[in-house]
Amino acid sequence: MKTNRIEHPRLVAIETTNRCNAKCEFCPNNRMSRDRLVMDDELFEKIIDDCRSFPLGAIEPFLNGEPFVDPRIMDRLLLIRQRLPKTRLRLYTNGYGLTPKRIDGLLGLGVDHLYVSLNTLDPEAYRRIMGLDLERTLSNLAYLTEPQRKPRVARKVTFRMTRTDETTLKEQEDFIEYCRRLGVRSFIVGLFNYKGAIPSHLPVPPYPCEHITRIDVLSSGIVTLCCMDHEGEYAWGDARKDSILDIYNGPVALRYRTLHRQGRRHEADPCGHCNVFWPSLERVSPLRKAQFAVQIASYFLRFWPTGKRA
Ligand code: SF4
Repeated sequence: MKTNRIEHPRLVAIETTNRCNAKCEFCPNNRMSRDRLVMDDELFEKIIDDCRSFPLGAIEPFLNGEPFVDPRIMDRLLLIRQRLPKTRLRLYTNGYGLTPKRIDGLLGLGVDHLYVSLNTLDPEAYRRIMGLDLERTLSNLAYLTEPQRKPRVARKVTFRMTRTDETTLKEQEDFIEYCRRLGVRSFIVGLFNYKGAIPSHLPVPPYPCEHITRIDVLSSGIVTLCCMDHEGEYAWGDARKDSILDIYNGPVALRYRTLHRQGRRHEADPCGHCNVFWPSLERVSPLRKAQFAVQIASYFLRFWPTGKRA
């Protein structure tokens, strides 16, 4: 491997568990056939130590599962903070297991950004979409957002709504108003198709996908293509055997990055039928950068993948 070609991922996501307490209709977790696991401590520590060998921008202990179903999540957050003090720590949850006790455990821990997938404020729709009781989640979120507590839990707090074909404009407006009242950021995003596994009307974009510049480790240690590859069918390597940096610079990962950066995303199976629209312009030539910038602007203007929509 030539030293001048070595790259490092901007983000590492670790699936500390692929178990989940929700049954979101738009999430492939329900259909996942691989074993339900909690990652063992040895593997988790190895991955964290691997990440110390390069400047890592952000880490997310989350992939296809709910972090607060992992009984060791609090210890793991602490370990990340101790061993990777300069890396941004981002935490995702559906909020149902984010009980007052766990919220208190997060106080002063150094989470940079906490995302809560809320999706709707309609109790019936919430039960239908997520299979959970809205009242309990809202009670957790009320505790979280008390003004004396929220800034000590995380530097930024965002509540997310995934917009499906059934999501009404009123649900979106209620959601934005609720977030405003609680003093948190709101973020509404269109539905991804999980490389074809989930129906979504958003088309496949032609420009490079941002997921080619991150590492996603499944609870088994398999480094999967991305969070859309929920079964780990397009693996880049195995974190039990090789270092994160070697896997990121291995031939499979390099091939994906090269195809995307050359504007040949459609040739990279399964990316040719995956509609993830977040772009990456990392390490592309100035000419291609200009070409991709036009494609990105055109995609966002035509299909409006984020924000409120009728
Ligand atoms: S295009 Fe889709 S399948 Fe390919 S890397 Fe991006 S998110 Fe993953």
